[in-house]
Amino acid sequence: MSEKLIELAKRRGIFWPSYEIYGGVAGLYDIGPIGVRIKNKIVELWRKFFVYDNSDFVVEVETPVITPYKVLEASGHVENFTDPIVECTKCHKIYRADHLIEEIAKINVEGLSPSELDRIIREKGIKCPACGGELSEVRLFNLLFSTNIGPYSGNQGFLRPETAQGMFTSFKRVYEAFRQKLPIGIAQVGRVARNEISPRQGLIRMREFTIMELEFFFDPESNVNPPLEKFGNMKLNILRGEDKVKGEKPKEYSIQELLEEKIVLNPWMLYWMATATKFVSALGINSYYFEEKLPHERAHYSKQTFDQIAVIGEEKVEISGHAYRTDYDLSRHMKYSGQDMTIFKKYESPKIIKKKVVVINKDKLNKEDKEFVKNLMTFINSKRPEEIEELINKGEKVDGKNIGDYVKILEREEKVVGEKIIPHVVEPSFGVERCLYLTLLNAYREKDNRIILSLPKYIAPYEVAVFPLLEKEELIKKAKEVYEIVREKFDAIFDDSGSIGKRYARADEIGIPYSITIDPQTLADNTITIRDRDSWQQIRVSINEIISALDRLFKGEEFNKVGKLINNENE
Ligand code: AMP
Repeated sequence: MSEKLIELAKRRGIFWPSYEIYGGVAGLYDIGPIGVRIKNKIVELWRKFFVYDNSDFVVEVETPVITPYKVLEASGHVENFTDPIVECTKCHKIYRADHLIEEIAKINVEGLSPSELDRIIREKGIKCPACGGELSEVRLFNLLFSTNIGPYSGNQGFLRPETAQGMFTSFKRVYEAFRQKLPIGIAQVGRVARNEISPRQGLIRMREFTIMELEFFFDPESNVNPPLEKFGNMKLNILRGEDKVKGEKPKEYSIQELLEEKIVLNPWMLYWMATATKFVSALGINSYYFEEKLPHERAHYSKQTFDQIAVIGEEKVEISGHAYRTDYDLSRHMKYSGQDMTIFKKYESPKIIKKKVVVINKDKLNKEDKEFVKNLMTFINSKRPEEIEELINKGEKVDGKNIGDYVKILEREEKVVGEKIIPHVVEPSFGVERCLYLTLLNAYREKDNRIILSLPKYIAPYEVAVFPLLEKEELIKKAKEVYEIVREKFDAIFDDSGSIGKRYARADEIGIPYSITIDPQTLADNTITIRDRDSWQQIRVSINEIISALDRLFKGEEFNKVGKLINNENE
């Protein structure tokens, strides 16, 4: 089915390989005029679910694709953003080692180390599929696209592999400017680049794509809970790590169970997984599950990860990733930049805490020589009061003199109003082109040897097509009048080229839910026909009622309730 979809996509301007006239480049795709319309609507739908519906605590930003070396060094990508590769020693073709083993030996080896993969290749006698040659040792290949920033070859940078680092590095600014309160989500939709080793699966594995990401910052100790009640008694399909190892299938769990049994480690992560469930359903994809990644399968920053897997026919594809990134990224940026990435958490009411303090006997110290005073102060300033107390008890000396003769450790009560914390982060992350591809694949139908793209109405490239039945001047004129009325309120397209049958087929193939036709009867009684993409049924409606009829149809009212059904005389 995917071959048929790819053929349709090329023919109808949805997507095709980039730079085709030069032979194309694997993993790079153009999104065509129809594809861009659908893609933009998918992005807007994501914004609705993840940003607009949560606008009390989620904001959106845009940060650059070009990223300094230091940022991705701090994030761990320079060291860890790698995939294993092997090279044929004879024809020098390069393969992604884990994928090659999975294809040939049919075993899951995700996340195994190069030496483990190497062992399996030798054990199973895997050779180069192209020429049968011996394979080299497995080594790691870094997927970051590298570049120079400015005309200085020493100033290395990268194209970002995820938008997330833009949200981490700007976190403090957004926090200060927005609400100075946790939780806070920072969303971003933007291009990313990953130098994938051998991308062969169309829009599923690309070298440059668009990502929709949310970094959600919260205090893990806080009692501010996510509004999970808004999901009612929704159930989530989950394949737990321990069940996966046993070869079991995903099971249904209620939100309550997932929380209470700590199957999902964090309630906010669960909140975004439930939101992802609603979003993916809104794309028309109703079969999916969340697969828990095993520790060796997880990215370096993650304490728990679930991949949301869409199931379409035979295909099972990761549509989104949900990672509990903890305070990993902010802590690393704090260390590498030397900037304070903490926020001040104010307590609901001040706490009285007991605190050890260092008290110096100044009278006694004033009588000592300068050198001793300097050495004693250096000693005191380099240690915590608790450590000094312990050393005093052990009789520690400076320049041969007992510290305890000059310094005492006392306990005092202190009122504190808050503390500095590094927020924790959960991240739901979707690839837009994957969403586009899976939505199209899911919507692809064939009926009487014709193709219908049965897209949800709100993500169709156009909502309504308007046609004159025949290429006659008076019908074209009237059809243009109707088109002007309809486009005031709906995303409409006018088409008068080719036969009406061809125009209906074109509308079906790009998924336009309704087509309006102006025929000779329109000139007589001011009525038009509306045709339904999926059933090919038609109703006749007065031009005066056209907007209200379309409104009712888009609200989901049954087709034959909105107007009188007529014969499909125009098909
Ligand atoms: P990740 O950061 O690897 O979890 O990726 C986040 C999401 O981006 C995935 O769930 C996919 O939807 C998408 N994605 C990842 N890699 C690619 C790729 N090479 N091409 C297209 N989409 C991708």
